[in-house]
Amino acid sequence: MWRFRMEKNMSMDMKQYIDEAEAALLHTYNRYQVVLDKGEGVYLYDIEGKKYLDFCSGIAVFALGYGNQEYNDALKGQIDKLLHTSNYYYNVPAIEAAKKIKKASGMDRVFFTNSGAEAVEGAIKAARKYAYQKDGCTDHEIIAMNHSFHGRTMGALSVTGNPKYREAFQPMIGHIKFADLNDFDSVLACVTDKTCAIIMETVQGEGGLVPATEDFLKKVRALCDEKDILLILDEIQCGMGRTGYMYAWQKFGVKPDIMTTAKALGCGVPVGAFLMTEKVGQNSLVAGDHGTTYGGNPFAAAAVEKVLDLFEKDHIIEHVREVAPYLEARLRELAEKYGCITELRGTGLMQGLVFDGPVSAIISKALEKGLILINAGANIIRFVPPLIIEKEHVDEMIAILEDCIRS
Ligand SMILES: *Cc1c(COP(=O)(O)O)cnc(C)c1O
Repeated sequence: MWRFRMEKNMSMDMKQYIDEAEAALLHTYNRYQVVLDKGEGVYLYDIEGKKYLDFCSGIAVFALGYGNQEYNDALKGQIDKLLHTSNYYYNVPAIEAAKKIKKASGMDRVFFTNSGAEAVEGAIKAARKYAYQKDGCTDHEIIAMNHSFHGRTMGALSVTGNPKYREAFQPMIGHIKFADLNDFDSVLACVTDKTCAIIMETVQGEGGLVPATEDFLKKVRALCDEKDILLILDEIQCGMGRTGYMYAWQKFGVKPDIMTTAKALGCGVPVGAFLMTEKVGQNSLVAGDHGTTYGGNPFAAAAVEKVLDLFEKDHIIEHVREVAPYLEARLRELAEKYGCITELRGTGLMQGLVFDGPVSAIISKALEKGLILINAGANIIRFVPPLIIEKEHVDEMIAILEDCIRS
């Protein structure tokens, strides 16, 4: 059966698959012209057997690399046991996953979702409910950041600081103001006695690999404490070890009141979560306020549980701290050598090379040469590899990239 399927795949032209995809799928992505088939470690293979070094990891998702046997076995075991219940009942994987993510994050209460955007939706609802509970009003405001990205659903889009993404879908949820990341005065200028929350990514991903500074985070935290405003940190991309900390805010000890996580949380299984402190947990969402059919079902929870186990067992964070400075150093060499590169940004295994023009040609060329890269905006190449990459993979990537830049 497997052989038959393989042969069928091989005989079917890549071009034909792509045509079929374009005839059937809604065209919301300009996809690269490749049909991927399988993965192994930090490499992907297309249906013609061509091998690619993966520095995208499904956009910061596949932290543990492809084909981790222990992870795969845990999922297979859970499939045979129980895939889904309902959140009206308890299940052991969700309990274990919740305990482990509490420990990893230092937060107190967890709500599992199916995606990042849904985690942001939940965070916004929790913040509004917290404020509503205090004064019974329904006109509370949220401050978000310019150039932020929080997802494509209406609530998440409303706090996403990219007018191009929002334009056609107006009106948004309303009462949102935008400030600039790392400009505390711009935040202050947005604060009123109606402000209920400030939301930001601890490190902006899509918006261009910009980390929030320690000074900015600390000032915002103090402001929130003073005015009982909730600080929501979106760790969907920068969380799960990518910066060399389980969650990026842990580097500065600036703890949020509400936090979102997703992407690498399930390492391929669609799952996210929003977490909160006990104070918010006790004074916001209660039974009947929020729900989800699938969120945190036994299958997704088994993935979260195993991912968090493997992070600990395989010392993923320690590994990131070892390999990330090497990636940064090699990228810095490139930035110094080539005039078309104007800046290196980011932190840990979340780096961006800013070019003086569009990077799409370089990314396409790299794909041809067997290297998968992704952009962040038109002019930035984003490096978000699996967290298990080794220095030799960095060297392999740099060699191909340099080739592409030269041509
Ligand atoms: C990807 C991302 C989201 C949205 O997550 P989805 O799972 O695509 O809905 C939200 N916030 C940040 C910071 C992200 O990088």
